[in-house]
Amino acid sequence: MDRLSGRCMCGSVTWTYSGETIRNLVCYCADCQRATSSPMTAFLGLRPSRLHWAGKIEHYESSPGTHRGFCPRCGTRLYFQSQKWRDEIHIHAATLTNPGEYQPDAQVLMRSRAAWLDHLSSIPGHQGFQIDPER
Ligand SMILES: [Zn+2]
Ligand SMILES: [Zn+2]
Repeated sequence: MDRLSGRCMCGSVTWTYSGETIRNLVCYCADCQRATSSPMTAFLGLRPSRLHWAGKIEHYESSPGTHRGFCPRCGTRLYFQSQKWRDEIHIHAATLTNPGEYQPDAQVLMRSRAAWLDHLSSIPGHQGFQIDPER
């Protein structure tokens, strides 16, 4: 049985989990893109009854019966929960204490995937910024 933990950017909200991980997926849907201001997001599908939160959380109802939680202090997106997925909560994998350990096994809503993601490997990469900020 896995033990997982995570937090928002400012640390006001933390979570711990002990139980099975139902899903490890990358979502490209249009709502996730808007909600996270990002071309994709990665989720852990967990059992809500085994998840424990600490700290104040607010949520936005992005469609009827679907709630997206976030930290009201720093704005970090925390979870997606919907009446369509009754015994699951989808936690944003980037909130993991060790996000580098995340292992996605599926990509979903490919029809909404931004076309430029296909070309990332051909775009020059830099360890820092390619142009430093002016002083
Ligand atoms: Zn926060
Ligand atoms: Zn999505």
